[in-house]
Amino acid sequence: DFVAIKKQFVIIGLGRFGGSVCKELIKQGHEVLAVDTDEHKVNDFAKFATHAVVANSTDEETLRSLGVRNFENVVVAIGDNIQASILTTLLLKELGVKNVLVKAKNDYHHKVLEKIGADHIVHPEKDMGRRVAQHLSDDKIIDFIELSDEYSIVELFATTKLAGKSLIDLNIRAKYGVTILAVKKGEKIDISPEPTYQIEREDLLIVIGNNQDIKRFEDQAM
Ligand code: ATP
Ligand code: ATP
Ligand code: CA
Repeated sequence: DFVAIKKQFVIIGLGRFGGSVCKELIKQGHEVLAVDTDEHKVNDFAKFATHAVVANSTDEETLRSLGVRNFENVVVAIGDNIQASILTTLLLKELGVKNVLVKAKNDYHHKVLEKIGADHIVHPEKDMGRRVAQHLSDDKIIDFIELSDEYSIVELFATTKLAGKSLIDLNIRAKYGVTILAVKKGEKIDISPEPTYQIEREDLLIVIGNNQDIKRFEDQAM
């Protein structure tokens, strides 16, 4: 895989979420210091992390001796022990860690994390649930990225209705307000297609726009 810049991360808590973040970062070529109070978890991750250590992140001296302050990115993936998650986050911010990402368990947890300076707060189950529901409710959309509440990038398979027509014929941007960023044909990808580009049946269209405009394009053009 392509890695722009190799980064160093600390992952605290090797449950399903923290463990998965750890493995993926390693796969992407980064360095990971993996931390957990559970010796078995740490042993399991010896092969998936650059270093794996048994330590309790709620202890300030421990965090200092691990050199956590030298890392720009720390992920707090302590699940059920909200108190430990909050205390860890507080200590990391006090030590001056620039970017602290924390997995929150509920809205109260989220609120406290926000107050004490967590830089990113994620709700994996909730977020994944939303994504799954969006996929299930719209079978034309293959994948999507939410850019904001209003704008997204989506992948849609071209229908027979579009096949054989060019972007000018369809007048897509003028009519629907959305832009075709790229067209994928299997492994091949054509970035910013010409207006004269003729859509083919199996093309995967990568479309950017306002969510309502994207919906309109899907409903009316496809
Ligand atoms: P997931 O849903 O991602 O599996 P979870 O919600 O089940 O996670 P837990 O199992 O509660 O999360 O916690 C994740 C990990 O965090 C556990 O392996 C646990 O040992 C570790 N952990 C808990 N407290 C600390 C701590 N103070 N320092 C380091 N690791 C900790
Ligand atoms: P615009 O001001 O909309 O960019 P334009 O005068 O620059 O239009 P062209 O780029 O020649 O026109 O394209 C003609 C029309 O074809 C556009 O108005 C637009 O509706 C459609 N079109 C061209 N390229 C795309 C694209 N990548 N995605 C969606 N529609 C496109
Ligand atoms: Ca859990």
